[in-house]
Amino acid sequence: MASSKPHATVVGAGSIGISCAVHLQSEGYDVTVIDRVPPGQGCSFGNAGGVVPCSVLPEFHAGVLTKLPGWLLDPLGPLHIRWRHLPKALPWMLKAAHCVKPSVKRHIIEGKAALSLRVLSDYDDIMGKTGTADMLNRVDGIRLFDSEEQYRAEDGSRKILREFGFDQKRISPGELRELEPDIATDFALGTWYDVWYSLKNPATFVAAMAEAMVRNGGAVLQDDVVSAEHDGTRALRLVLREKGEMVVDKLVIAAGAYSDLLAKQLGTRTMLEAERGYHLTIPDPGVKINRNLTWAARHGAMVPLDVGLRLAGTDEFAGVDAPPNWERANVLWKVFKRVLPNLRPLDDSAQRWMGRRPGTPDSLPVIGPSPMLENVWYAFGHGHLGMTWGPTTGRLIAEMMAGKPSNIDLNRYRIDRFYN
Ligand SMILES: Cc1cc2nc3c(=O)[nH]c(=O)nc-3n(C[C@H](O)[C@H](O)[C@H](O)COP(=O)(O)OP(=O)(O)OC[C@H]3O[C@@H](n4cnc5c(N)ncnc54)[C@H](O)[C@@H]3O)c2cc1C
Repeated sequence: MASSKPHATVVGAGSIGISCAVHLQSEGYDVTVIDRVPPGQGCSFGNAGGVVPCSVLPEFHAGVLTKLPGWLLDPLGPLHIRWRHLPKALPWMLKAAHCVKPSVKRHIIEGKAALSLRVLSDYDDIMGKTGTADMLNRVDGIRLFDSEEQYRAEDGSRKILREFGFDQKRISPGELRELEPDIATDFALGTWYDVWYSLKNPATFVAAMAEAMVRNGGAVLQDDVVSAEHDGTRALRLVLREKGEMVVDKLVIAAGAYSDLLAKQLGTRTMLEAERGYHLTIPDPGVKINRNLTWAARHGAMVPLDVGLRLAGTDEFAGVDAPPNWERANVLWKVFKRVLPNLRPLDDSAQRWMGRRPGTPDSLPVIGPSPMLENVWYAFGHGHLGMTWGPTTGRLIAEMMAGKPSNIDLNRYRIDRFYN
């Protein structure tokens, strides 16, 4: 007998799509998630796993712009644009440069904070629903500084965090050594951040949530969505590479860095770039760290996972389909050897990975309904914070689809904000 429940189709089985699916079930939907790869194998696979609500500053700020010319000339620098991709990325870059203006920056900070302030309660909620509570390492992160001057340069950022209730504490070199005995002894100081947790393994976390969703009656379909069709008012069907046409009732596009392609087919233009990041995961690194560590001199993070030490970071603009430049992964070892002097030389056991962060120019995600089609919602563009904001996004999307009011201004996350 056919189910009397409403049906939702979610495209994308990453942190965002699976979180949407779990919450839609709670709102009484039958859910089918479609992805060409198994749950948690896209960008949600190999990230640094940081659950970092205190990260409320925009990714692109004046400091990045001043360093940009030097970085662009260095293919192994923290941020790189492949020249061939530049014409395509230019409108996005110009929009990102516009976001550096103080008034726009403030709007972004408030938009990020509005999501971030509910991250931990949304994590508790989804972990309770999916039986994954033991997969989050609730130990706060530390940022390392080479000098007092480097620390002072971030005074402004710390002040903003404090404004939103995210506390920080200065840590002396002695305390640093006590907390993290394997880091270099010549750091001038550190900052302990409240709250900066990390997942023990982001990929297995997403997979475990998907398994719980399936146990609860949902379905995961492994297939490629080739196209999406609509009649100007509603999305009608998806065309799948293997299984052919699939009629949709309600549709959520959570396809990460590929979401703009589907949005375009569904009649809405947006701005999205694959901000490609790399990782090295070293099963037997020869050093031990106890928490998520960052270093003010370089972009990226060092994280202890259940599969080893992960060094992750960097930002490369090359388009979604360009081949990876594995030297960008190898360089992470050279960079973080400065922090962890006893890090073993790289060998074949190290895993190299590249993932496509779905990046918007204003560092805010897209969360909300289609401006054109009454049965379509979008959930993508979470850039550097898709693991952090997954559960919150899932809840917001499910609430919107159920017609429930929200206590945050969702206008900031509209899909068509870049062209209006
Ligand atoms: C190096 C690195 C470090 C990071 N560290 C952190 C961190 O510490 N904390 C944090 O919060 N975030 C971090 N991120 C960002 C985070 O990984 C992403 O924001 C997040 O994974 C995005 O999730 P998603 O579900 O939107 O995308 P994805 O996980 O990529 O999921 C989208 C899915 O859609 C599928 N898909 C797309 N198009 C189609 C189609 N047409 N048909 C079928 N399937 C389709 C893809 O196969 C994919 O599985 C990091 C990212 C990188 C690269």
